[in-house]
Amino acid sequence: MNNLSAQNLQNRGVARAYVLGYPVDIVSMVDALNLIGEFWQNHKPMHVVTLNAEMTMQSLSNNELGQIIEKADLVVPDGAGVILALRARGAEFEKVSRLPGIELAANTLETANRLGKKVALLGGKPEVMENLIKVVKEKYPGIKLTAAINGYFKEEEEAKVVEELAAESPDLLLVALGVPRQEYFIHKHRPKFPNTVMIGVGGSFDVWTGYVQRAPETYQKLHLEWLYRLIKEPWRFKRMAGTLPKFAVSSLLESLSGKMKATIARNPLQEALEAEARK
Ligand code: UDP
Repeated sequence: MNNLSAQNLQNRGVARAYVLGYPVDIVSMVDALNLIGEFWQNHKPMHVVTLNAEMTMQSLSNNELGQIIEKADLVVPDGAGVILALRARGAEFEKVSRLPGIELAANTLETANRLGKKVALLGGKPEVMENLIKVVKEKYPGIKLTAAINGYFKEEEEAKVVEELAAESPDLLLVALGVPRQEYFIHKHRPKFPNTVMIGVGGSFDVWTGYVQRAPETYQKLHLEWLYRLIKEPWRFKRMAGTLPKFAVSSLLESLSGKMKATIARNPLQEALEAEARK
């Protein structure tokens, strides 16, 4: 372990909080990128989940998804709901801020570009993937694109898709199959990617290729990115209406119930890295 020391990590203070029983790591963008860098240095697999309120509520009724989130190496607070739930717990969480998965994925690509890493991409419609390949090659010329496969393959093709993605042992795999399919995919096939940082990126490929517009900055700043998506993609209403109010009430009750102290723990990932550093 070169520049990874227990002191480094302690100074960085990666803490793990729990919202409705699911972990959220309190990390800044720099922390998250540093952790990814450390996993690359140590040739370890890493599953990064970008958690929002909808996903948290989905997990409550979907045990499989919940267990995958619990086992993920890094869970970043993607959604405004998760942030508000944490901030309601008091001063300790005042400074927690959103870490949108789409920005983490873009910054990871940027770092991969600088370091000349191998990247594999999976997901999105065929035309989106065709465009994404062009966008990535143009914007990140330092990246070695080892595989790029759209997300509309048949179940019986999955083994072949995995084989193709894993063939050159990529450093980074971005999976855009939507929640929870992308989380299932990463978890199930993790053993095939022993050196890969894997991130489920939802609709990021659609945004990067201009097929979908991301919310303007004003919406982002006001924590209303979800509202913009709802306006643009009204079919989400049923899904959101069924989950977001329940999330707001349950998480607020949890925050007010004072269980908070017991819900702060050390990130097991950090502990593992520290243990490795001590070796
Ligand atoms: N997708 C895919 N294969 C499928 C279903 C969806 O590749 O069988 C892609 C879809 O094209 C889109 C992404 O998965 O790019 C899901 O985006 P969405 O914004 O719906 O993600 P979520 O809201 O689940 O994070």
